[in-house]
Amino acid sequence: MDTHQIRQLTHHIRGPVAAAPGARLSPVFDPSSGAVTAQVPLADAAQVRAAVDAAQAAFPAWAATPPLQRARVMFRLRGLIERDADELARTITSEHGKTLSDARGEVTRGMEVVEFAAGIPHLLKGEHSPEVGRGVDSWSERAPLGVVAGVTPFNFPVMVPLWMAPVALACGNSFVLKPSEKVPSAALHLARLLQEAGLPQGVFNVVHGGREAVDALLDDPRVQALSFVGSTPVARYLYERGSAAGKRVQALGGAKNHAVVLPDADIGLAADALLGAGYGSAGERCMAISVAVCVGDATADALVAALAPKVAGLRIAPGLEDPDMGPLVDAAHRERVRGYIDLGVQEGAKLVVDGRAHPCTSRDGFFLGGSLFDHVTPQMRIYREEIFGPVLCVVRVPDFESALALVDGHEYGNGTAVFTRSGGAAREYARRVQAGMVGINVPIPVPMAFHCFGGWKASLFGPLHMHGPDGVRFYTRLKTVTARWPEGAAGAEFVMPTMR
Ligand code: NAD
Repeated sequence: MDTHQIRQLTHHIRGPVAAAPGARLSPVFDPSSGAVTAQVPLADAAQVRAAVDAAQAAFPAWAATPPLQRARVMFRLRGLIERDADELARTITSEHGKTLSDARGEVTRGMEVVEFAAGIPHLLKGEHSPEVGRGVDSWSERAPLGVVAGVTPFNFPVMVPLWMAPVALACGNSFVLKPSEKVPSAALHLARLLQEAGLPQGVFNVVHGGREAVDALLDDPRVQALSFVGSTPVARYLYERGSAAGKRVQALGGAKNHAVVLPDADIGLAADALLGAGYGSAGERCMAISVAVCVGDATADALVAALAPKVAGLRIAPGLEDPDMGPLVDAAHRERVRGYIDLGVQEGAKLVVDGRAHPCTSRDGFFLGGSLFDHVTPQMRIYREEIFGPVLCVVRVPDFESALALVDGHEYGNGTAVFTRSGGAAREYARRVQAGMVGINVPIPVPMAFHCFGGWKASLFGPLHMHGPDGVRFYTRLKTVTARWPEGAAGAEFVMPTMR
């Protein structure tokens, strides 16, 4: 390997900052070739403190900047993301592995949150009540929190940071982002774009690292709030430790998304939808469908028959060639997913398509074919646990109520979908199911930026979802002012004020 090609990445604290002397470095891979393309420095507590220092120093002036001016930074950022969309998508593909079209879609979905945040003057408008008492007016306003932090996962290097930062910044906060050390370059690109858009130095900072960096953010009393997206054990840990330290925390965790296929569904439509939702981005999406719940054996037989040749025929190649599916993010994750396929066979599920045998596995890089299991039961670990890879499990149930009970009995409640031609059944499912995001004949119901994203049960810790109106609520605190302008002395009042 030509080590001269390996980029040395920096943190971004007011601007690019090199690794501290003796800092630990972590390799960044191109999943399509397996080659190391960069080294990312892992911040220690001192470096995280420096990022919080920068954010703390920049906060007062930024918070005092009129919302309309903050919105104009978002307008410019939007244009810059559009200008660099192709480069951002290539960066995503080269570090995550997903296909270029999928990466472009990710950039667009992230940009939409910037568009939402550009409306911040409207979103921050409080409520005003004249004459709450005689000559007394009252209004509410939303104030920024201060320094807030974001910790993001590997699977959306652009979109998930953009779920958080634009809303937080537009609300007047300063921000420290700790992106996944597996996909660090896109966050640095976003930091440069924010600077180019006119964001003052220090308002947005990036520190790379792992648990040590995250713990330093949790331990710093100046960090007022923390947004997290990642696996459930880490989400739970951050939520508990951050909340105990008095911080606001929203921690989005893992998922096991069920698609219920009712006997009246259009099986062709359902099979195509599940193919994209199960195997797109190699199943490395928190909204991927990983379980198809088929009501009745005839439904299951028809769905498996329609899906099997499509799964076996997936075009799998380097993401830059824009196939159906690229590689997994790294070798360890591929081994983990492969281990689940071995386990499913041991547990007695029927392996209809074996991704371990796909020709792509002989390529360099972290490739694995798509796998399809039938006759999976709720007791099996391949059903209960999040696999986060290109593996779809078919579970057979006798009726609608058993399908609903199965979905509701699962630990996770992120997204779910129902496929049917019956409006009544779809309405019943959407109304009763215990999940945060529901699709009706829509396999991946990711809400738009002006709505909120979040799951239920072990898929989200904390009361508020991400972006949309909940994002504004999360990144601000409410102040309610009550005012009167009496003429002359009114005299002391010793009783609870009431309307007279
Ligand atoms: P992860 O939990 O391993 O890592 C997420 C972030 O936490 C990274 O920045 C990582 O450096 C940091 N981290 C890892 N271990 C830590 C620890 N012990 N202490 C403190 N910080 C730690 O998740 P991942 O593998 O990057 O991403 C995949 C997971 O994220 C899946 O479980 C997926 O479902 C979930 N996810 C959820 C959503 C959602 O919206 N609910 C969205 C995307 C991904």
